[in-house]
Amino acid sequence: MEEAKEKGVFNEEKACLVVKELRKSFDSGKTRSYKWRISQLEAMAKMIEEREKDIIEAVDKDLSKPQLEAYIAEVSQTKSSCSEAIKALHQWMKPTKVKTAITTYPSSAEIVSEPLGVVLIISTWNFPFLLSLDPVIGAIAAGNAVVLKPSEVAPASSALLADMLTKYLDNSAVRVIEGGAPQTTALLEQKWDKILYTGNARVGRIVMAAATKHLTPVILELGGKCPALVDSNLNLQVAARRLIAGKWACNNGQACISVDYIITLKHFAPTLINALKEELEQFFGKDPMKSKDMSRIVSSSHFSRLLKLLNDDKISDKIVLEGQKDEDQLKIAPTIILDAPDDSLVMQEEIFGPIMPIITVDKIEDGFDIIKSKPKPLAAYLFTNNEDLKKSFVENISSGGMLINDTVLQVVTPGLPFGGVGESGMGSYHGKFSFDEFSHKKGVLYRSFKGDSSMRYPPYTPKKQSL
Ligand code: NAD
Repeated sequence: MEEAKEKGVFNEEKACLVVKELRKSFDSGKTRSYKWRISQLEAMAKMIEEREKDIIEAVDKDLSKPQLEAYIAEVSQTKSSCSEAIKALHQWMKPTKVKTAITTYPSSAEIVSEPLGVVLIISTWNFPFLLSLDPVIGAIAAGNAVVLKPSEVAPASSALLADMLTKYLDNSAVRVIEGGAPQTTALLEQKWDKILYTGNARVGRIVMAAATKHLTPVILELGGKCPALVDSNLNLQVAARRLIAGKWACNNGQACISVDYIITLKHFAPTLINALKEELEQFFGKDPMKSKDMSRIVSSSHFSRLLKLLNDDKISDKIVLEGQKDEDQLKIAPTIILDAPDDSLVMQEEIFGPIMPIITVDKIEDGFDIIKSKPKPLAAYLFTNNEDLKKSFVENISSGGMLINDTVLQVVTPGLPFGGVGESGMGSYHGKFSFDEFSHKKGVLYRSFKGDSSMRYPPYTPKKQSL
């Protein structure tokens, strides 16, 4: 197996071997027991606790993510996910009793959560630990064997995940395969019982097409353009701070639920822009390039992608806050664009970086039309004190999740599902939703030999038919 773990040499044959080994473990029944699941979740909790420093170091290497941001998102959130599963596992595993029909009297019925089998988790680079371990926690809690394929774009994090999971978890049922597209392709050739993929929609389509071959169900955690509709009836300073927190102080915009663009009222835009500029200075100082509190862009290809968005002629006279760019350090400072035309690149593509277009409208309701004209986003935000507007936004805007008067915190709210709709993805996870996604809900009806009415059996006599 050592060979199969080596980077670069992992091919279809080796992928097949890995799946075979994991299926053997799953078929032995070991992963189904409460004891195994809890032991793995406890081992995971121990791993995060003991390797906290290494995790923070790895995301620093991959993204220069500020230590506090790394701690909150990668360590603390993964820890709480793990402890929620540990606390609730017994309850989650219990069958749910349901009512039976009079026609089956006497009987009882229940829904049994059954593990699916061997599942594949393909994750991404922007929150490399959280977005890898959170789904693994769900898959283990539901009693599955699991292969994790972290993103090659965050190599230090990927290597650490492989090292840690190999050392702390039961390798007969939990594996990490490192690599990029070729290794993922080899894995996708195999028959899985479920695939959870996090990343862009182009690869999402590849994953879904590969899954079709084996009729494997998929959870696709994708992205898109998450809007923030900002009314003028609000607490300006708090709104500005929270918008910044959902963009530049959130992995420098490299987050699937970060604010992609703002829509606001034409007359209010200058006030909002001034507030954003003031608060940006409070957060990152006069020279944001020197700030240690802002992540860098993950790679030179993503840096070039962002430059391409900025070099679009359609926005050349629309930049109201021009951030400095440093290719050597892969840094781009906060940039704001006012009224970028709808056919400009920044309004057509998911930005995934520190550029914020602000679109103005005459009436706040016109913002609804802009949002609806684009694919359904993973998150939609609204800032207002107007209760009717809040109600209308929740009722009329379709998005994976929603947050009123703040940004990104929906993701840390226990009890809320996390997932997309339409082009932002399918399926959702977190907490019990993860457990359910990685389980089959098996309906079981129990009958006794009592109450065996002949009414249902042939011959269907005229008397029976008349009833
Ligand atoms: P990425 O480049 O890390 O790719 C994601 C995964 O796909 C990686 O594991 C990678 O190895 C694999 N991959 C890449 N090319 C492949 C191919 N040709 N065939 C098979 N596998 C392949 O990540 P990314 O796509 O740059 O991530 C950013 C995107 O992910 C954004 O669109 C963002 O919105 C989305 N995202 C979504 C969530 C969510 O939870 N919904 C979270 C984070 C990011």
